[in-house]
Amino acid sequence: MKPGEEIGERENSFLPKVVNASGETIDSCYQCRKCSAGCPVAYAMDILPHQIIRHIQYGHREKVLSCRTIWICASCYTCGVRCPNKVNIAGIMDTLRNMAINAGGKFGEKNVPVFHSVFLDAIKKGGRVYELGLIVQLKAKTREFLKDTALGWKMFRRGKIRLLPPPFSSKKEIREIFNVCEKGKRG
Ligand code: SF4
Ligand code: SF4
Repeated sequence: MKPGEEIGERENSFLPKVVNASGETIDSCYQCRKCSAGCPVAYAMDILPHQIIRHIQYGHREKVLSCRTIWICASCYTCGVRCPNKVNIAGIMDTLRNMAINAGGKFGEKNVPVFHSVFLDAIKKGGRVYELGLIVQLKAKTREFLKDTALGWKMFRRGKIRLLPPPFSSKKEIREIFNVCEKGKRG
């Protein structure tokens, strides 16, 4: 293997895996960059959406799964709407996030994956978001206890953060939804 070459450049198994998991025709991308030009959070990404597609085509698995971009994407679907080849990049980003979690490596973005897991946990337990519980969990996991405290206090004073969790009576239904999703992920 040449220096700088990634596994997959000679034998690209990454592209078909992403195509199969996402159901997207990644091969049809001809790098017009309309996706990146319209992405509202491109400024915060380390690899632009059209570059992500190119890296997948080249089989650069490590680079793609360890970048910030897949966690920064807000799943707004602007890119997919603008794409002349109807490549649904938001769906591809979902697939890449799952692949990154399953690969168990180091994430390119520290706090967003933690937020995802805390958020899902909150929905699983309470059926909807209970902001105060979510904030406490997030702070405990990220250890950023002082970050955004002024904003949190302001929200609390304006009644945006409740002290008690909202009532929840659909535990069984929520559990069933999670069971189906988790079964699908394993299958
Ligand atoms: S808009 Fe579509 S075809 Fe153009 S670069 Fe993005 S994914 Fe590729
Ligand atoms: S779905 Fe993601 S990549 Fe596409 S425009 Fe929205 S934020 Fe950008």
